[in-house]
Amino acid sequence: MNTRKRDIAMPDAALMDKLVSLAKRRGYVFQSSEIYGGLGSVWDYGPLGVELKRNLKDRWWRSMVHERSDIEGIDAAILMHPKVWEASGHLAGFTDPLVDCKVCKNRFRADDGRIKGEPGTPDAKCPVCGNTGTLTAPRMFNLMFKTFMGPVEEAAAVVYLRPETAQGIYVNYLNVMQASRQKIPFGIAQIGKAFRNEITPGNFIFRTREFEQMEMQFFVKPEEDERWFEEWKEARMVWHRSLGIDPARLRFHEHGADELAHYAKTAFDIEYQFPFGWQEFEGIHNRTDFDLSRHQESSGKKLEQIDTVTKERFIPYIIETSLGADRLALVVLADAYREEEVAGEQRVVLALAPAIAPIKAGVFPLVKKDGMPEFAHRVCDDLRRLFPVFYDDGGSIGRRYRRQDEAGTPFGITVDGQTMDDQTVTVRDRDTLAQERVPADRLVSYLAERLGS
Ligand code: ATP
Repeated sequence: MNTRKRDIAMPDAALMDKLVSLAKRRGYVFQSSEIYGGLGSVWDYGPLGVELKRNLKDRWWRSMVHERSDIEGIDAAILMHPKVWEASGHLAGFTDPLVDCKVCKNRFRADDGRIKGEPGTPDAKCPVCGNTGTLTAPRMFNLMFKTFMGPVEEAAAVVYLRPETAQGIYVNYLNVMQASRQKIPFGIAQIGKAFRNEITPGNFIFRTREFEQMEMQFFVKPEEDERWFEEWKEARMVWHRSLGIDPARLRFHEHGADELAHYAKTAFDIEYQFPFGWQEFEGIHNRTDFDLSRHQESSGKKLEQIDTVTKERFIPYIIETSLGADRLALVVLADAYREEEVAGEQRVVLALAPAIAPIKAGVFPLVKKDGMPEFAHRVCDDLRRLFPVFYDDGGSIGRRYRRQDEAGTPFGITVDGQTMDDQTVTVRDRDTLAQERVPADRLVSYLAERLGS
């Protein structure tokens, strides 16, 4: 659990720049297609980033699917029948109003606070080129990516990349119920890619056009919706705290009537205080019977249930928890970033909770002789069977520690002269900097106790 505050105050834009550059330097996140100049707002996860994101996803999956008997997992395809998006309201309603500047060709959301004046009138001023009267009137822009299925580009074969994973759950809910013999109330969880042609992507991996969602849809009796909503709202906040995220930087935001999506009765965001301000990274929504009613109507397939007591027919209400895996990765990275003074020297540390850190321990022979490298390799081989570890014999021991501090590795294990005499090693704690001698044959249990799950 990590509740230490950043030791050195820094401007927030500078913090984002530092995070982006650390993410690249240490192999967390790279810009897509960088050798071609990059593809705007598309990012690739490097060796450490893929481990971090996988740890987050595994933890979510475990808490949703493995540790509960009332939630099943699925993995639906990204491409779905086009009628799904008609029924869900995405074809007609998944739009943002946008305006274009006729001079500099930049495109903005109509509600972009930087725009002065009313777009489409002679008074409107472009926030980029500064010309007046060059902004078009707002036009509605659908955020779904369109593509063509089959060899012929004709309207009949238009399909969409899903803008949310939820619909794959709704159209499968009867299949899942029957196959797993679940009864209402129960849930379905899914992790997968979603695509939105966002008008204003940005802030690193916060808002991208291709991203990953971890969504869980819980099907309940209509009269039990509010109880389940409260339960999930609280459970999600508890889960985020369990990742070691600073609780002072987490809060709920309730959607007012003007913010509620067309399908929602109640909605709460869980927000994090990012370097660029408080922003949502998970949404908890009471979607009522909107989705299943629409799919029942549109497909002609009965999606209702019969109450076991009253024998009345009803369409289940859905409580949704929708979390972005990339946004969560940004939350834990931003929350873990520290710059500290240690013995007159500055160090950068990613104080990630050990359970989600990509590498659990660095293993270092103090010098490259006297049997130390061989011993360190044996330690590495033993540990590698249980945890990701990293062998490093390059440069001074101080530099090796600092590289692993930046990578977020919670423990450093040094093989030194004394090891050769008594088979103990030094274990250094990334956060407290405390060093302890531990018998090499006790390292597995020593680390297991401290890594958490
Ligand atoms: P926003 O208002 O930020 O666009 P939203 O309200 O449209 O988000 P939802 O549709 O509720 O978001 O999606 C649920 C979650 O999916 C969000 O909380 C976020 O974590 C993630 N998400 C949505 N859009 C993006 C995106 N463009 N890039 C990365 N993650 C996203």
